[in-house]
Amino acid sequence: MDDTHSAPIDLATIVAGIYEEMKPRLGEGKVADYIPQLARVDPAQFGLAVVTIDGTVHSAGDAAVPFSIQSISKAFTLTLALGKHGESIWRRVGREPSGSAFNSIVQLEAEQGKPRNPFINAGAIAITDLILAGHTPKELIGEILRFLRYLANDDEIVIDRDVAQSEAATGFRNVALANFMRSFGKLDHPAEHVLGVYFHQCAIAMNCIQLARAGLFLANGGTSPLTGHSVVSRQRAKRINALMLTCGHYDGSGDFAYHVGLPGKSGVGGGILAVAPGKASIAVWSPGLNQNGNSLLGSLALEKLASRTGWSVFAG
Ligand code: GLN
Repeated sequence: MDDTHSAPIDLATIVAGIYEEMKPRLGEGKVADYIPQLARVDPAQFGLAVVTIDGTVHSAGDAAVPFSIQSISKAFTLTLALGKHGESIWRRVGREPSGSAFNSIVQLEAEQGKPRNPFINAGAIAITDLILAGHTPKELIGEILRFLRYLANDDEIVIDRDVAQSEAATGFRNVALANFMRSFGKLDHPAEHVLGVYFHQCAIAMNCIQLARAGLFLANGGTSPLTGHSVVSRQRAKRINALMLTCGHYDGSGDFAYHVGLPGKSGVGGGILAVAPGKASIAVWSPGLNQNGNSLLGSLALEKLASRTGWSVFAG
């Protein structure tokens, strides 16, 4: 299992093999339990989808079962914010790994309400505030959903309203983060408007195949091979990938880079979107999480995939 590859990559066999290896471990890890809708999810599930930049799909296991994308949505709202405001977004949010948990508040005071990066909760809330400019919360929720449908080329993608409502009913920490930023003048809209959008973006439900398709523009220099449309410039795709690599897994980002070596964004629903630039977009889902709130079997599966394909961005 090393990174030497002279033979052509047999993706179908690799994907099927990883699923077989995961089967005996199904159910490992701890399912997110901060809302009943996520706590109820059967932990013994695993899905994997690899979509290569020519659009070919290889999938295994529960790759067609929808799950709550949660923080993976942050990669897409960052893309929207960069499209709308360009590089000026970096006045509101940083680009450094936080080394803290996804919902941490400690750095915010020391850094005057400017979150470390767009992928921790505070940073994602700041990004949602930026894209709310000129919209009502309801319009923006519609825009985010339409963006994901467009990227995945799939109009079946929906928001799970029960998840969104529960997020709102229990999101005390996020309410605190938003109000704290507002107190520093770092949020332009009322906290409840921004969070109304944030909770809905987290509650978008997608399956691995849809998610891998939606991420394909990041693997293909900013252009979706599914539609031929340019979503972002090549340089912007490169930069979003850089942020996913350094910040996409919270305080587990270094470990993910060490073991997997691909830009990735995880969500507390157990999904991970990973990007192999120039090669493929990969989505994996298994609800059991590790201590950093990232999918345990998902991370392991991506490590195996990156190793067997030689796709790690650090591989020679
Ligand atoms: N909805 C979750 C929250 O805001 C998302 C966190 C995550 O996926 N890490 O707490």
